[in-house]
Amino acid sequence: MSVLLLNASYEPLTTVSWKRAMSLVLTGRAELVEQDSTRTIRSAGGAEFPFPQVVRLIQMITFAGMRSKGTPRFSKKALGVRDNRECQVADCDERGSTVDHVTPRSRGGDTSWENCVLMCLEHNSRKGDQSLEELGWALKQAPAAPAGAIVFVTARPEWDAWLLPA
Ligand SMILES: [Zn+2]
Repeated sequence: MSVLLLNASYEPLTTVSWKRAMSLVLTGRAELVEQDSTRTIRSAGGAEFPFPQVVRLIQMITFAGMRSKGTPRFSKKALGVRDNRECQVADCDERGSTVDHVTPRSRGGDTSWENCVLMCLEHNSRKGDQSLEELGWALKQAPAAPAGAIVFVTARPEWDAWLLPA
C-alpha cells in the first residue's frame, strides 16, 4: 500500500511505501495526517501503530523542477494522466500513444503542458507539421497545466481531498 506524502505546505509531493512513511513519522520527520482505521501495524516488539494513508513532512522541501505555483513538471507520463491516455482530437476514441506538439516544433512550438497533447498514431502522422486550424481539427479540451495537484500518482479515493482542487 502506498501512502500520500504531503509537503509541510500540505501540497501533495509524491507517494511512498507505508514502511517509508512510518520511518518518516517515527523519526520525527513527518506527522500522520490520515490513517486507515481498519488496519494497524504491529512492530516486532508488539507495539501497534495506525496504518498511514497520508503523512505530512514537518519541514518544507523544495526541489529542482518544482515551480512556485505547484505546477507539476511536464512529462509524458504525467501528460498521459492529464489526457486520460486518449487521443485528444475531438471525437477520436483511440489510445493516445504519441505526444503531439500543437504548434509544431518546426514552427517554434515548445514542449510544455500548453503545447502538447496525446494523439493516436494516425492523427499524429496525418497532422505532421500543420496547425489545427489548417486541418480544421478541434481538441477535446484546450491543453493546460494541471492545477496544483500532482498527476503522477495512482489516485485512491481517500486521497481525493488532497489531490482535487477545492
Ligand atoms: Zn486520434
